[in-house]
Amino acid sequence: MSDILELIKARDPEQKEFHQAVQEVMGTVQPVLDRHPEYRQTAILERVTEPERVIMFRVPWMDDQGQVHVNRGFRIEMNSAIGPYKGGLRFHPSVNLSILKFLAYEQVFKNALTTLPMGGGKGGSDFDPKGKSDDEVMRFCQSFMTELSRHIGPNTDVPAGDIGVGAREIGYLFGMYKRLRNEFTGVLTGKSLAWGGSLIRPEATGYGSVYFASEMLATRNETLEGKTCLVSGSGNVAQFTTEKLIELGAKVITLSDSSGYIYDEEGIDRDKLEFVKHLKNIRRGRMKDYVDKYPGAVYTQTDAASDHNPLWNHNADCAFPSATENEVWKKDASNLISNGVYVVCEGANMPSTPEAIDIFLDKKILYAPGKAANAGGVAVSGLEMAQNSMRLSWPREEVNSRLMMIMKSIHQTCLNAAEEYGHAGNYMAGANIAGFVKVVNAMLDQGLV
Ligand code: NDP
Repeated sequence: MSDILELIKARDPEQKEFHQAVQEVMGTVQPVLDRHPEYRQTAILERVTEPERVIMFRVPWMDDQGQVHVNRGFRIEMNSAIGPYKGGLRFHPSVNLSILKFLAYEQVFKNALTTLPMGGGKGGSDFDPKGKSDDEVMRFCQSFMTELSRHIGPNTDVPAGDIGVGAREIGYLFGMYKRLRNEFTGVLTGKSLAWGGSLIRPEATGYGSVYFASEMLATRNETLEGKTCLVSGSGNVAQFTTEKLIELGAKVITLSDSSGYIYDEEGIDRDKLEFVKHLKNIRRGRMKDYVDKYPGAVYTQTDAASDHNPLWNHNADCAFPSATENEVWKKDASNLISNGVYVVCEGANMPSTPEAIDIFLDKKILYAPGKAANAGGVAVSGLEMAQNSMRLSWPREEVNSRLMMIMKSIHQTCLNAAEEYGHAGNYMAGANIAGFVKVVNAMLDQGLV
């Protein structure tokens, strides 16, 4: 396996995040390879780490002053062994091939865990929607979709939202696809309810992550009621994680954005959360505005170049990293443990560095990796695809109960796979092994693909 990792590093030396994601999976699937020599004989590791297709394109667009800008667009079609490519679009200045390949790779195994027929993909652009007018965002989305529309379709590749791509962007992207193709199909998920969206999709990733944490706690006969929780981020995942935690009687004391975080010792209640939703989704403001409205809270500016984040240095029981990759460093992990945290449930993708994960595993806390804990979003996207193809709309309770069942099943699948391959209680190993086995077996069934 180390030969393969060396090969990947030699081929794309600058793709650090992709190497990190591959290394994490490979570090846990050795017992599977030992039991299945056919995987090595058929070069399955080499195949599963190479995208089926990478699409990269120019996205020219005009700002409100008539100035022309050029961004770069991407779509990574990673693996379609178990269904059409499925995974979000990210608009953020940090977007590059490495980040999107890591996200697409994670997505392959995550989607397999949901039990729904979805392959894995990811895409996006280095465009930054922050500070842009609605018209500028619309023009960008239209230009982006002009090229992307050639490569996607309801049976081929079905993108969704991610960082920087919410309801507004999905609307503009869908409108342009429809116009170019002259067809109304479920080519994107995360659509608005009035035109093909599913109830509970906006809530699904955050709610799903909390359901996963509840399942983990249930193995110790505990619940979330009365637990103090640290949440990072203030976007889609963080907002609905907080909402469900409040509903289940937990107390959330932090939220953040890329500039800093707020610490609210009294807890973020429903009214405060509504303020945050309005601030981030409508006013598109910054978290530091929270303390103007709620002076009892404290705002601390954070430094993206630092090797730790003070948000993780507060007494609590549970932590829900829900902002971005590599936001929990080694020092943060040590701080979390010494401040009493024994549940870490990843709403974001790969938020913990490998050194932080080693600490969680060593201390045997309840640690849920993103590919299991945040799979609720793509699971409900899968349900949106099913509703679209039947031209039906399921009620809220039905989608929510399916989401709960899926999260329960992912939790059990992780435990079973970990146990079967000698990693009892290790959710990361269980998630990697279960997702990997399902995908590579499908690849083997389909011949040399
Ligand atoms: P949003 O764009 O809605 O929110 C992202 C949040 O993270 C914002 O608060 C943003 O702050 C913060 N953030 C973004 N980049 C950075 C950075 N480099 N450093 C610090 N903070 C940052 O995205 P989502 O909530 O949808 O996504 C959050 C995470 O969850 C991502 O890892 C995503 O891949 C993952 N995820 C999302 C799913 C979904 O359904 N939306 C599904 C599964 C996983 P600011 O406002 O300053 O940019």
